[in-house]
Formats: sequence, C-alpha cells, structure tokens
Amino acid sequence: MKIALRCMALVLMAGLCTVGASAGEGQPIAIVHARLIDGMGGSPVENAAVVVRGKTIEYAGPASGVSVPKDAQIIDATGKTVMPGLADLHVHLQGSWDGISVDLLGYQRYLKAMLYAGVTTLMDTGNYQPWVLQLRQEQAAGRLQGPRIYCVGAMIDSADPAWPDLAYAVTSRYQIPEIVRRDKAAKVDMIKGYSNLSEHMLHWLSEEAGKEGIRVVIDQWERNGSPDLVATGISGFAHLPTRKMNEVDIQFAKEHNIFFITTLTVTEAFARTRLNDIGFLKEPYIADTTPPWFLTELREFANKPQTEPEKKETQESIVAHQEAMRNVKKLHDAGFLIATGTDAPYPGVFQGEGLHHELELMVEAGWKPLEAIRASTYDAARLMKAENEWGSLQAGRRATLLIIAGNPAERISDTRKIETVIQDGKIVDRTELKYDTKTDAGYRAVPGLFNP
Ligand SMILES: [Zn+2]
Repeated sequence: MKIALRCMALVLMAGLCTVGASAGEGQPIAIVHARLIDGMGGSPVENAAVVVRGKTIEYAGPASGVSVPKDAQIIDATGKTVMPGLADLHVHLQGSWDGISVDLLGYQRYLKAMLYAGVTTLMDTGNYQPWVLQLRQEQAAGRLQGPRIYCVGAMIDSADPAWPDLAYAVTSRYQIPEIVRRDKAAKVDMIKGYSNLSEHMLHWLSEEAGKEGIRVVIDQWERNGSPDLVATGISGFAHLPTRKMNEVDIQFAKEHNIFFITTLTVTEAFARTRLNDIGFLKEPYIADTTPPWFLTELREFANKPQTEPEKKETQESIVAHQEAMRNVKKLHDAGFLIATGTDAPYPGVFQGEGLHHELELMVEAGWKPLEAIRASTYDAARLMKAENEWGSLQAGRRATLLIIAGNPAERISDTRKIETVIQDGKIVDRTELKYDTKTDAGYRAVPGLFNP
C-alpha cells in the first residue's frame, strides 16, 4: 500500500515534469534483467529492474520488488549493466583540440560528443561568461542537446590574468563585492579563483562569496593542495595536487572539508605519455565524434620532435603526473570528497572519451572500479549539492542512466561499451550525436589569448 501511494506521488510529480518531453511521452520504460550499479558504491545487484516514468526513476532494485507497468516499453538488459550517467566536473566548452585556440561555434559538437559517451552532466570551469550562461540556460530549457550544464562563468584572476579572455582581472579587494554580486545575479554554480590571485585576495573572495552562499573552487597550478591556500576559506580544488601531499597537509585539508576534482587525464596530457601511442584515436568515442582535422593536427603535434626546453617541461610534467596519481589514492584513502573531471580539451584529452580514460587512470592509481564510478556519479552530485536530484539509481531521482554491454564493476574500461543513454527519461538517439559534416560546418578555431 505504501509503495502504491509513493508511486502515485511520483506519477503526479512525473506528470508535472513531462511537459515538453519528447517521443514516447507518457510511456514508462522498464529495464529488466540488468545488473544494477547504483552509483553510491553499493554492490551490483544482479537481475535488477529499473522503471522510468516521465523524467523520474520510479523503481530501481531487485527484480523481485518491481511491478512493471503494463504499458511500459521493455528493454531486456540480460548480461548488461545499468548505471547512472557520468559527470565531468572540469571541462571547457570553447576550445579546439589543443585547449588554447578558440572555437566558440563548435559547442554543439562538444555537447554531443559528451552525451554520446554517456557524460550527462558537466561543469564548465572557466569561460566567456555570457556565452556559457546562455548555453546552460538553453540546455536546461531543452532547446540545446547535451549534458546538463553547470558553470563557474569567467574565472577571477589578478591584474595579469593567465587567461585574459576567460577571466575578470581583479586589482583591488574593493572590486570583489561587486564581482560576487554580479556572479550571484548570474547564478553561477561556483566561483573559480585562478592562478595569480594572492592568498589575501582569495581570502576576501571566499569571504564575500560565502556571504552570498556561493562556494569558491580554485586552480593555482603547482600550489594546489597547499595549506596556505586551504586556509583562505576556499571549498575545493579544480585539480588534484601535483605537489607532494604529506600527512599534515592532508589532515589540514580534511579539517577544512576540502573537495577535489581529479583531472588526471590532463596531467597525463602534459606528460605526453598517452601521445606516445596514438592508437587510442581509433576509440569510437573519439573517432565517431571528432572532426578529421582535429585528429590530423593532433597527430602532427604528437609526431613533432620536442625542443630541448619542451623536453625539460615534459620531464617535469611526468613527475607531476606521477605525484597526482599518488595523491588521488592518498586523498581517497583519507576520505575526501573527490569527483571526476578531465579539463578537456587538451592535446589527447577529448570531451566524452576523456572521462572514460579518467576512470581508468583512477583504477590504475588504486581505486576500485565501483569507487571510481561513484566519483563520477553520486559523489559528483554531492559535490554539486544535487545528490537528491541526480547521480544515483534510486526511486525519485532523475532518470538519467546508461545501459552498458559489459560489467564495469569488474573492468572499468567496460564503461566504453555504452549501448543506450537515457537522459531525463528520454532514450537518446546516439546515431544523431556522431560527427556529421552535413550538420557541422567545420568551423576553424582562432588563436586564443593565452599568456602564461
Ligand atoms: Zn581547466
């Protein structure tokens, strides 16, 4: 009886939510005989069922507890896995393959590439503010196809910003209240403080943002994770530390309830280790979604001999990546809130595919596959304070989920075997998400103003 009442409430909720939903509207979906990964780290449930009604999960659990609605579209997932959609909480939607040049017109291709690869939520962590706010608004309204978008707007940096195109330059603490007020009005999901901000400025920024209920996430490159930065009142780091984290640093960050976004793929990209064998460019999540000229230019980049200063930089980056790999394990063992991010695009870091590689790197660093999945689902939602809305397969959550022809709880690379993406209760036509010269004009990027 209780179940019936709860279902009734969900039906009513779903009824309200399905306004504007698409094909199959009103028809529930029942995924049966699946292996269920709930996203919260629970053991996989064999022979499970998931019932989706409207935009909402009505049931997720053992087949023994389900009553499949008579009118449901049945998906037999025997031998397959159902799990929540993945989240990449560190991407930039404006870039070209190199991460530096700018292609503001190619956003739809990026959004499609992510959805194709099962990335159903993203956070853009630094961009042209009005542009990315509009993308967020259009996606939320259902006029733009792609993952759910969170964003930080433009970054906040010092008088000499590292990315002048993408940052507000702050020269005095007296500018901060006005900037925070503007970000509050823009409803940014977090504020990002960038590399050249002094600790004093970060302190003022965190304090002012805190008054408005907005959290500050930062990237200060090789200083990420340092106690001096933790002490400024920030909420988290947009990358894992590449510096050695000793017990005292870890304890201090723990006391301050700091979160981390992983981005191992980008530290690996700077180390150029993945570019030694560019066979991975044949991966369907890349090959199906990427313009050929991106791959041509990337191959040229990978094959070009490095200059002596470049070689030295690469050597330093290898050390930094190894440290980040050690830190992701250490910080995980210490119980931090850690969510997945990639920093795509960079050379060899692709929107969509990059997230799957991120999960593989986490497992290589010592995480269990289910733990890595949790960092990309439930814990990503916790990081966004949205765990009651998305990120797990439970009754009442958003019906955004993947059906996978494999068992990623045992082999993390099986997340690459996505067969079906369901977003907000709607089965996504993945063939429409592939790169297509008929619908993509082939915009060419222009140089960005990067001034490290
Ligand atoms: Zn970034």
